[in-house]
Amino acid sequence: MQLHFIANAPVPSTSGRTIPVIDPSDGQPFDDIQRGTADDIDAAVHAARQCYQAVWHKLAPVERGRLLQKLSAKILEHADELTTLEQRDCGKPTRQARADAVALARYFEFYAGACDKLHGETIPYADGYSVLTWREPHGVTGHIIPWNYPMQIFGRSVGGALAAGNVCVVKPAEDACLSLIRVAQLAAEVGFPAGAINIVTGYGHEVGDALARHPGIAHISFTGSPQIGTLIQQVAAERHCPVTLELGGKSPQIIFADADLDAAVPVVINAIVQNAGQTCSAGSRVLIDSLIYEPLLERLGRAFEALRVGPAAMDLDVGPLIRQSQQQRVWDFLSDAQVAGIPMVAQGQIVDEAPETGFYQAPTLLRDVPVTHRLAQEEVFGPVLSAMAFQDEDHAVELANATQFGLVAGIWTRDGSRQFRIAKRVASGQVFINNYGAAGGVELPFGGVKSSGYGREKGLEALYGFTTLKTVAIRHG
Ligand code: NAD
Repeated sequence: MQLHFIANAPVPSTSGRTIPVIDPSDGQPFDDIQRGTADDIDAAVHAARQCYQAVWHKLAPVERGRLLQKLSAKILEHADELTTLEQRDCGKPTRQARADAVALARYFEFYAGACDKLHGETIPYADGYSVLTWREPHGVTGHIIPWNYPMQIFGRSVGGALAAGNVCVVKPAEDACLSLIRVAQLAAEVGFPAGAINIVTGYGHEVGDALARHPGIAHISFTGSPQIGTLIQQVAAERHCPVTLELGGKSPQIIFADADLDAAVPVVINAIVQNAGQTCSAGSRVLIDSLIYEPLLERLGRAFEALRVGPAAMDLDVGPLIRQSQQQRVWDFLSDAQVAGIPMVAQGQIVDEAPETGFYQAPTLLRDVPVTHRLAQEEVFGPVLSAMAFQDEDHAVELANATQFGLVAGIWTRDGSRQFRIAKRVASGQVFINNYGAAGGVELPFGGVKSSGYGREKGLEALYGFTTLKTVAIRHG
């Protein structure tokens, strides 16, 4: 059984209740986590506050950096263990779970080096004055994490917050806690002071809500659905608590006739099947130049048919979805497509070894999806790719921008002027040209526009969100 991790110690919930942990590959429970309460959050915030005032606030930035670096090395030492935990908990194929563990270590490595490089400015003002700015930590930051990339999202948000001088209370998703509890234990082992990283597990409407409402939380980093993002924003607004929102997407891959299709096809496929399509930045719409629509669809269709889906431990192209309700959600989208007469081009195959009790979904390619249909508008959060044709650049941009979201856009063309023209016109936090995701580089600031959220995580830019600016003006003499 897993306990909360508060002030460097395993702690049971005051509720005395637990939540079963289900393996998505076979649908069976294999562990339990604590069903946390508002009192548990209160205990974690108290521990964090004590740590901030007594220890963390007084550490020189270089010392903080050394601790983050030690944690990075420790995570790499334990990469196999973390990979196994994540694979079982989230149903991720081995390579994907391992890539997440390595990325987690990389976030701590990157932010370790940033701790002592967060400078203020001096500002020329008027004779007799010196004006300067200090970047100060918020204090205790709250982190609400989704189940799709627990380790990566912990790395980018907690890593950045600690580097900026904050201490953290973390609420993982109820479906995916195991790796994060272990990482907090590893942090204690390498010398993080008690209360610097606290983990409280449980349901969103109970502990997540309590975290967002707690007056001791000075900043909230929320990654999750737009619906819950709205609730967090409302709750935080009542006490004017700053929030970073990393929400969903319906990201387009825009492919022009002059694109290098050998390079584009595997990347377009990976961008929708990675993590079984349960990725905020999934490239879930492919917008194709009408000049190459038919031949490219045929090629994509052959690639979809070759995809194999099965238990995480088999390490195939695609693992199971996180839970039964997520599987049902994808089925609902596909049955709506059928009712609307949207043609299916191809599907991958679920292998015979996949237990019937697991939450599997074959990757599916649909074509001629009307721009107003929910398949072109809403996040499916499954391996379903919607294709549509465009006539010219204006049409491509119109389709790309025709959703409430604006997280990522992929542009595939050899024409350098067009690359910039389109990149300027798409409403999106990130634009990737002739690639998609730039291999996940932790140095690259990440975030959305429109309903994909606001604020940036990753890169040095994240540190601005995890600090507040104090202006100091001195009049001499
Ligand atoms: P979710 O919004 O259901 O849950 C996210 C977290 O919020 C979980 O920890 C959950 O327990 C908690 N929560 C739920 N209700 C709450 C409440 N009332 N108050 C406080 N916390 C609450 O999202 P999910 O299903 O876990 O994740 C999928 C969503 O996350 C998708 O929309 C996806 O696009 C988005 N996402 C975005 C990014 C990004 O960087 N933009 C990254 C990953 C996932």
